[in-house]
Amino acid sequence: MIVDRFGRRFRNLRVSLTAACNYACTYCVPNGKRLMRARDELSVEELLRGVELLMEVAGIEKLRITGGEPLVTPKFDGFLEGVMGMGLNDVSFTTNGQLLAGKVPLLARCGIERVNVSLDTLHQDRFRQIARGGDLDAVLTGIERCLDAGIRVKLNMVPLKTGNADQVLPMLAYALERGIELRFIELMRMGHLAHSAAFERDFLGMEDILAVIGSHYRYSRTDAAWDSTAVRFDVHSEDEGVVGQFGVIANESEPFCATCTRLRLSADGHLHGCLSSSNRHPIADLLRAPREEAVAGLEHALYGAMADKQSVAFSGGATVMKLIGG
Ligand code: SAM
Repeated sequence: MIVDRFGRRFRNLRVSLTAACNYACTYCVPNGKRLMRARDELSVEELLRGVELLMEVAGIEKLRITGGEPLVTPKFDGFLEGVMGMGLNDVSFTTNGQLLAGKVPLLARCGIERVNVSLDTLHQDRFRQIARGGDLDAVLTGIERCLDAGIRVKLNMVPLKTGNADQVLPMLAYALERGIELRFIELMRMGHLAHSAAFERDFLGMEDILAVIGSHYRYSRTDAAWDSTAVRFDVHSEDEGVVGQFGVIANESEPFCATCTRLRLSADGHLHGCLSSSNRHPIADLLRAPREEAVAGLEHALYGAMADKQSVAFSGGATVMKLIGG
């Protein structure tokens, strides 16, 4: 197993099933073009072999399925069924929720316990402006169906100063009412935002988010797993009881690079050790190679991916989130 000088090792794997997405969020996609499937995306069999080998060689314990949008590809069902039988400690996925309602029977059958849904606003028009696609009601229906089926939901919201800052309180109220943990993701300097005035214009940091929440709720900081990316808070009622939690993924305000255990596999077969690095390590050919060759090649790629990790803070990079799935 590879451990670096900060004691970091790979524990969490994010697998992007496809680069295609049915949204074109303003902060993720620069020109509003819907994302298409890459020409050379890995098959379900190759993806599953990748997971199996990375469990063995890198020590992967937890898996998050992502994209693009993982629910737009027919690979989702077969991949989910395959990974659920691999003995991982935790399997979840992240989705924009547009196609979620129709997948709930499959999720229940596979025993998925938790889903992360990305939702930036509860306001119809604003939703269309930010996502540049999709329908808000479809997402809300998907969330309700999951909750009805006993599947826990976490919500991810990227607060933007000029886009949805007024939605911080409505989104938190919506989440608390349903026992959902809402995570505010600080805008990341990725892709077209890496060196752009748009980042400075739209960035809303943890301090500002907490000030808005503090105007309406009493909260206190609470525990998070040692390698969690989120700073977590309890929300208190008048009589001091805890009525729920929320979190802030504070890439900028409180970077978590020093404890990062994440590894990403892109849909076209590249390993990424760090969102902030443009380096990527091709492994598609290894996934078709005999076992001994695959293991040796993966070890080499993993050393490279580990060396890409930042030591202190996320500094941003040209890599586009849609390609590796956040
Ligand atoms: N389509 C899936 C979804 O919506 O969850 C998975 C892929 S999406 C790229 C994963 C997450 O990355 C979403 O929550 C999205 O809001 C977030 N994201 C994309 N670009 C971002 C950026 N520049 N800063 C912060 N979060 C970003």
